[in-house]
Amino acid sequence: MTVDLLCFGEPLLEFNQQSDGRYLAGHGGDASNCAIAAARSGARVGMLAHLGADAFGDSFESLWRDEGVDTSLVRRNPEAHTGVYFVSHGTQGHQFSYLRAGSASSRVRPRDLPVDAIGAVRILHVSGISQAISSDAADAVFEAIALARAAGARVSYDPNLRLKLWPLARARAVIHAAMSMTDIALPGLDDARQLLGLEDADAIADRYLEMGAGVVALTLGADGTLVATPERRQRIGAFPVQAVDATAAGDTFDGAFLAEYLAGGDPFVAARYANAAAALSTQGYGAVAPMPRRAAIEAFLRECTG
Ligand code: ADP
Repeated sequence: MTVDLLCFGEPLLEFNQQSDGRYLAGHGGDASNCAIAAARSGARVGMLAHLGADAFGDSFESLWRDEGVDTSLVRRNPEAHTGVYFVSHGTQGHQFSYLRAGSASSRVRPRDLPVDAIGAVRILHVSGISQAISSDAADAVFEAIALARAAGARVSYDPNLRLKLWPLARARAVIHAAMSMTDIALPGLDDARQLLGLEDADAIADRYLEMGAGVVALTLGADGTLVATPERRQRIGAFPVQAVDATAAGDTFDGAFLAEYLAGGDPFVAARYANAAAALSTQGYGAVAPMPRRAAIEAFLRECTG
């Protein structure tokens, strides 16, 4: 399949503790979540991912095939494992424990990248997590960005700041360098505040535009999204829903936004569509299961307008 959107990052098997103490397996990882959300909105999307030659890797490949996500750039490493994380629920709320050091994705190097395939897409989507997992992975993401730009593809970047993975000073340095090579910036407000040391959403949008992005979609949680281009800016309201779990709302936003932006080319329209997709995704538990499909998103938008 020729893909328009390529998502590059680490897929992670999730084990989420249930009320009886047992762990329920699921699929996570921001790039995979974004790819699935985009596929459910009709985008031609592929994963650039590195998995272990293990059962968890098989499970991701079969998930992506079922979701219509292209897997031709997925590579399996017999010497490394697929990344895993556990969510446990204690007196202090959710706790995340990661088993990702040495994972197949963290071992990716710049020379492992499929040069021609990266140059053939319309948008390459990467994140701060894709860069945080190891210095090789950070280098590989910079190389993928350079390859995409050299071939005329656009780069989309979500900082997805995770201070468990790297200290703020390093995250800032790497993410700012990447943002200066980014066309479509998709930061969340809390992350951007920490990274830039700015409070105000408009000031944050200004900074990312100054760094070179042509489109900034700054997500504001239950307050929706601020979309800014060098010519225009607008706050796009969130849709009121009974939110029960905002896991992957940002990833769902990214995937739906990129799918709609690829289809129509208008970032303001794409943000409204993506706000609806992300709102619907907060109504169910987990990352992948509650991500809506295009038909449901469009029906919801009609309901909200009518
Ligand atoms: P992140 O998790 O990346 O910080 P946000 O929390 O900003 O992302 O959420 C992403 C998008 O999800 C928002 O722009 C909004 O459209 C939607 N969203 C998040 N929380 C809610 C909510 N409680 N009600 C409706 N929409 C929401």
